[in-house]
Amino acid sequence: MSLPDRNNPYTFQPYLEWRKGVDYYADDPFLQKMLRVFAGPEAEAIDREAREFSRKASFRWRDLAERIATPENRPYMQHYDGHGNRIDRIVRPYEVEVMEREIFSEGMFSDAVSPWTRFMKIFLLSENSEAGVVCPLACTWGMVALLEKYADSTETKRILSHVKEGIDGEFAIGAQFVTEIQGGSDVPANLVEAVEEGGAWRIYGRKFFCSAAHADYAVVTAKPRGSERVGCFLVPMWLDKEREIRNGYTIDRLKWKLGTVELPTAEITFDGALAHPVGPLDRGVAVVVGIVLTISRLVVGIGGGAGMARGWREGRAYASFRTAFGLPLEMFPMVVAQLADYERYTRRTIAGSFRLYRDFMRLPGGLAPGLTTQEPLDLKRRRFEVRQLVMLQKITVASDTNDFARKGISLFGGHGVMEDFSIFPRMLRDGLVNELWEGPRNVLLTQMHRDFQRVAEWYPADEFVASVLRGADPSLVEDFTREIRELLSLPHLFEMNERTLEICARWDDFCSRFFHAYQDLALAEAESEAGAREYAAGQPAGR
Ligand SMILES: Cc1cc2nc3c(=O)[nH]c(=O)nc-3n(C[C@H](O)[C@H](O)[C@H](O)COP(=O)(O)OP(=O)(O)OC[C@H]3O[C@@H](n4cnc5c(N)ncnc54)[C@H](O)[C@@H]3O)c2cc1C
Repeated sequence: MSLPDRNNPYTFQPYLEWRKGVDYYADDPFLQKMLRVFAGPEAEAIDREAREFSRKASFRWRDLAERIATPENRPYMQHYDGHGNRIDRIVRPYEVEVMEREIFSEGMFSDAVSPWTRFMKIFLLSENSEAGVVCPLACTWGMVALLEKYADSTETKRILSHVKEGIDGEFAIGAQFVTEIQGGSDVPANLVEAVEEGGAWRIYGRKFFCSAAHADYAVVTAKPRGSERVGCFLVPMWLDKEREIRNGYTIDRLKWKLGTVELPTAEITFDGALAHPVGPLDRGVAVVVGIVLTISRLVVGIGGGAGMARGWREGRAYASFRTAFGLPLEMFPMVVAQLADYERYTRRTIAGSFRLYRDFMRLPGGLAPGLTTQEPLDLKRRRFEVRQLVMLQKITVASDTNDFARKGISLFGGHGVMEDFSIFPRMLRDGLVNELWEGPRNVLLTQMHRDFQRVAEWYPADEFVASVLRGADPSLVEDFTREIRELLSLPHLFEMNERTLEICARWDDFCSRFFHAYQDLALAEAESEAGAREYAAGQPAGR
């Protein structure tokens, strides 16, 4: 019976109250289980840290992230001060500055912090989507990995210490400026110039996408004068931060974007910025791609699983709270099927990211530029696997996250697109950016196809498939092996003909299915290991 009632009593309050009280880690037994399985003996200590960190990420930083995500809070530029001095001040809401300071003060990249703690903190933060902080964290991490390998001067060592351990309690923020107006994917076509003047390097030219433009230091690619090869440089962004004196560049404008809107992404013109060369100057592309961008791609994969964890949790709760036609949504088979799909994607994505991170951490000496190293064959192969899996994860998870967010919006109905009601709109807008930066899908697909050709002599693709899917159903491995052999029988993807077009479409589809198989395997292994441990300990397995 449904009689009129002018004082409609309907309220979302119970759902909102529940949501307000969720602790991302404490209320996620699946995440805890993955940590126990993959972090091994360290798990107990990391669990304690994750619980403490989660209380901040799930409540205080969640609220701050929501507050800054409105159009009137977008960063903007003040190019001049009141006295005609060019300052190019990026004005950001107080909340983001506070949140950033608190998060960076955790010293996530310090030697004293376990890599698993770093993983968990980035995961938990990513449940708030990018929020103006995840990109700078990824860039800083990439900068740390780069400098740990190549810092060889007093100044670069000082910068490494500033980003890793902080100076007087202040932790520096990193950025990476590679893309130019003529193309982001084609880094070798960079035109920005580096000139050695009086014993110091200086940078000239324009970078067109510079996120975390408020950073303290940036990794900048540039060609040394007269060279066709790109080099990699470390540019301090300030000559005097207190007095707002920048290091020989102007911030021409901030971009007006669809996603990651809390994050200032700028167009910057360098006009003699003092820079420090990092790594071999003729191998800048390999150095940046092999180390800096690989870390950022890893973060895209970790963040995707985190977004799904939140979406799945909120979707389930909403389906149980919300009624339609007198029934809770969770009583409709269409909705139940959709939720089951969410669960499958969430769990496989998270398990895959844990497993890949574990393999990434086990690489002795960390990431390396390029494909060939002088290392023993087994190690070279492991490096190659991690490199390919990071790219596969980046494209697969970025795309899955967007499907997930779109379906999540549809599950919530009209309320799903309300930015102050659900996380999905922000997740979708940020997710679209995740598909682009650090290498768009087509570029990475092409890159991987080419990489397999380049390593064919020392790592045939069928052995790669067998190694990555070790433990999977043999018939599945056989099918993938047959398929990859055929797809790689075409030596490259650059000739415009029917066969190449067909292979391109199939390669795209193959890569997603292959990475899903990797994720499913990671999940199955984790579940069985967790099950065995819990059986041994006489405890029921958490979901
Ligand atoms: C919000 C945002 C923030 C960003 N922040 C930064 C930043 O901080 N620092 C930075 O350096 N960059 C940044 N980028 C730039 C980003 O990395 C580039 O957009 C990206 O690398 C692609 O470059 P492009 O946009 O010039 O596209 P293009 O290189 O012009 O590519 C256009 C299309 O062509 C395809 N394509 C290009 N080459 C190939 C190929 N060889 N094979 C197959 N397909 C190909 C691409 O996949 C894409 O679909 C940011 C981008 C966005 C959207």
